[in-house]
Amino acid sequence: MGTGTVDSRAAGSGGAPREIRRAVVTGGAGFVGSHLCDRLRDSGASVVCVDNFLTGSAENVAHLASDPGFELLEHDVTEPFDVEGPVDAVFHLASPASPHDYARHPLATLKAGAHGTLHALELAGRKNACFLLASTSEVYGDPLVHPQVESYWGNVNPIGPRSQYDEAKRFAEALTATHRAHLGFDTTIVRLFNTYGPRMRPRDGRAVPTFVTQALAGREITVAGDGRQTRSLCYVDDTVAGILAAARSGHPGPVNIGNPAELSILELADRVRELCGSSAPTVFVPRPGDDPDLRRPDITRAVSELGWAPVVDLDKGLTATIDWFAARQES
Ligand code: NAD
Ligand code: UDP
Repeated sequence: MGTGTVDSRAAGSGGAPREIRRAVVTGGAGFVGSHLCDRLRDSGASVVCVDNFLTGSAENVAHLASDPGFELLEHDVTEPFDVEGPVDAVFHLASPASPHDYARHPLATLKAGAHGTLHALELAGRKNACFLLASTSEVYGDPLVHPQVESYWGNVNPIGPRSQYDEAKRFAEALTATHRAHLGFDTTIVRLFNTYGPRMRPRDGRAVPTFVTQALAGREITVAGDGRQTRSLCYVDDTVAGILAAARSGHPGPVNIGNPAELSILELADRVRELCGSSAPTVFVPRPGDDPDLRRPDITRAVSELGWAPVVDLDKGLTATIDWFAARQES
């Protein structure tokens, strides 16, 4: 491995190290994407971030604006695009991700999964680069197998209120797998589970930013249904480490990337309230349609084949997240 590059080695295959000297990150001005841009830059790889700011913001990468190893290209990936110069890896993250966002942008979400994935794959093909798809635990739908293993095909309502996201990602996986099987592309699919941390939008509707901003402001904490539905929350640094481990590995996936520590939404609300030192009351609000009852990743594959596991526990991750939101509220 040369200095100033991400070390890339095909896990378990004895394959040659893959150097990522220059990467394209679609959706790089979003929550997860901006942290991925940071980690790639930390490794010395140069980064081209492609984003149309639908649900992200240039503010998330403003600290990289004067970095000569970072370029920001404002573009909608549902339209074809190209990038000048060599590219070693294309990380495709561009898509609304919060249920609130994909309900507001249903067609844009379907197009990001379909046309956006195709255009990102085509770029990887032209550049002879590896391609990573950021898929999601939503491909398992409201799962009937728990915890979720990669071999589970899922329980998805194809015309329900979450279908624009779930089916777009399932199609994106099919497109990626087909390019690998039939066109010889070098691809990886990671299925990300609920990820949280700094740079989430306070009003993106997801549980963590909503509860944190409510608790900090002393407003009612809005728990959907009876709050007994579960999620397993992964701190963003761990998720990004998993994405990079997958890209380095050459593993085709799919690989679950998430933290198996499962808790109910009511427990999450209580934890956030306590860590915020807040006395905000809980209010129970109607549960959205097709909201999954249970979610927990089986990460056996990621541990054994990528050598990756999350290391940040919930209290530590929530504290870092709360500190970030609190600092912004004060400024
Ligand atoms: P986000 O909304 O913060 O980031 C998505 C980014 O993609 C935004 O910057 C947005 O402007 C950009 N984008 C959307 N459509 C685009 C288009 N057509 N062209 C260019 N840019 C476009 O969401 P996130 O939480 O950072 O999620 C990033 C990726 O990770 C998504 O693909 C999402 O499906 C996946 N994922 C995230 C989670 C999670 O818990 N955060 C879980 C599973 C999967
Ligand atoms: N949720 C909630 N109150 C909120 C926002 C979300 O109780 O203000 C619930 C939501 O109904 C779901 C869980 O928290 O059961 C996680 O929701 P989120 O939108 O964070 O992620 P996803 O549903 O995509 O896992």
